[in-house]
Amino acid sequence: MTGRAAGAPAIEVHGLTKVYGSGNTEVVAMRDVTLTVGRGEVVALLGPSGSGKSTLLTAVGLINPPTSGRIAIGGQPVMDGPRALVNLRTFRREHIGFVFQKSNLIPFLTARENVQIALELNGESARAGRKRAGELLDYLGVADRGDHHPAMLSGGQQQRVAVARALANRPQVILADEPTAALDSQRGRQVMELFRKVAHEQGGGVIVVTHDQRSLDVFDTIYEMEDGRVARGASNARTVPHGERASTADPSPPRQT
Ligand code: ADP
Ligand code: MG
Repeated sequence: MTGRAAGAPAIEVHGLTKVYGSGNTEVVAMRDVTLTVGRGEVVALLGPSGSGKSTLLTAVGLINPPTSGRIAIGGQPVMDGPRALVNLRTFRREHIGFVFQKSNLIPFLTARENVQIALELNGESARAGRKRAGELLDYLGVADRGDHHPAMLSGGQQQRVAVARALANRPQVILADEPTAALDSQRGRQVMELFRKVAHEQGGGVIVVTHDQRSLDVFDTIYEMEDGRVARGASNARTVPHGERASTADPSPPRQT
């Protein structure tokens, strides 16, 4: 991959702020967020509804430009405030896999074609694309639905196809916004573990917005977002940073968005 500084973190976000609207409709959704996701690091992003999680994720995903602050992916500066420093479409397609809260599949393509198209847009042959799509759908337990259109799939099946599509290009950054909300806990865990596997194999960085307390042990680092700010969170993450607060003892149920 070109433009990738050797050894640079997968994701670097510095001083990111997002203001929606203006005047008396102004909402500051993200306030001076700075964080780094290393290569192979899998991060959970927790926080109540409206705290800015999707705003942060879509900013890093180059879908929703920040008002100010900087974003670098794999050492390559990509955003300087709202200004793009690369061709965003191309960069997204080549380096970023995004799983939306709703599966967002193309309705007139089959499940397999939805995965395959991501590969073909990146220059993969139809044959190789079909093979990789088949493998991913198989791993995610939806291979038997490969020829079905999204409308014929359950919410959970659609979401698994969307995960397969996001991973198809072996992106160096994977961003997922509550990807397991429609899945049972076993499937949800499987998806989290797949993200982890992909991150480790490819040296990519992963951020997952989740409310699933049962899968938190899969993550290396946990951040909590509140009122647009990000802080290190619960201490059952695999790598426990020094001096952080422990909030895993909190017995309250998962918060809903
Ligand atoms: P979360 O994903 O944590 O629920 P969001 O990032 O979606 O939070 O939203 C953060 C804040 O920004 C909320 O107050 C929300 O109402 C506001 N917001 C989100 N998107 C928009 C938008 N397009 N226009 C105006 N306000 C928005
Ligand atoms: Mg959200």
